[in-house]
Amino acid sequence: MTQKRRLGIMGGTFDPIHHGHLVAASEVAHFYSLDEVVFVPTGLSSHKPDRRITPAEDRYLMAVIATASNPRFSVSRVDIDRPGPTYTVDTLRDMRKIHGPDTEMFFITGADALEKMLTWHDTDELFGLAHFVGVTRPGHRLADPGLPNGRVSLMEVPALSISSTECRERVHAGEPIWYLVPDGIVQYINKRDLYRDAPGE
Ligand code: ATP
Ligand code: MG
Repeated sequence: MTQKRRLGIMGGTFDPIHHGHLVAASEVAHFYSLDEVVFVPTGLSSHKPDRRITPAEDRYLMAVIATASNPRFSVSRVDIDRPGPTYTVDTLRDMRKIHGPDTEMFFITGADALEKMLTWHDTDELFGLAHFVGVTRPGHRLADPGLPNGRVSLMEVPALSISSTECRERVHAGEPIWYLVPDGIVQYINKRDLYRDAPGE
């Protein structure tokens, strides 16, 4: 029997993508011997209905730019091309369709997002579709979330206290974001004039 392909899936608003996202994906990929990690920028986020989110094409392109140099990282349009708010169960169903039954899927998520998982719809189906990997995030303790055994793992990654919110606020305030995000993202944000007027909140 050939070994199943191991695919990481990292969903996020990525407004903008930053080194916290990239380190988390890289660490999980190493620890779980993943063949590939797909970054999936959300359409309208069901978790952030009130915030003005940067157009999907900009968030998608930033994810492409940030992951371009890593041969094991890629970006998917499934969530931004599906109308309406993004639900993780739809993301996983689409990825299952695209990658077929011979792929083992690992959904990578931060501790904060993992906590919210209990409130998500279709949790039974979710855990049937993928293994969930919750990673540490500064300010969010990684407690056992009390989820079904064997379908959720917790993993410590080097703590980078970077958030997209802080990046947006820094740009708005005229402060640098060099080294918090990849160089190409600093340049893309400048070129497209993102976050300058309103940090998005
Ligand atoms: P925002 O501040 O707008 O909420 P964010 O930095 O949390 O943005 P998201 O796009 O919301 O970024 O996050 C996507 C996923 O990455 C989530 O599962 C989140 O928990 C995780 N994540 C974000 N930042 C980090 C970080 N610094 N370390 C580990 N995981 C992170
Ligand atoms: Mg967040």
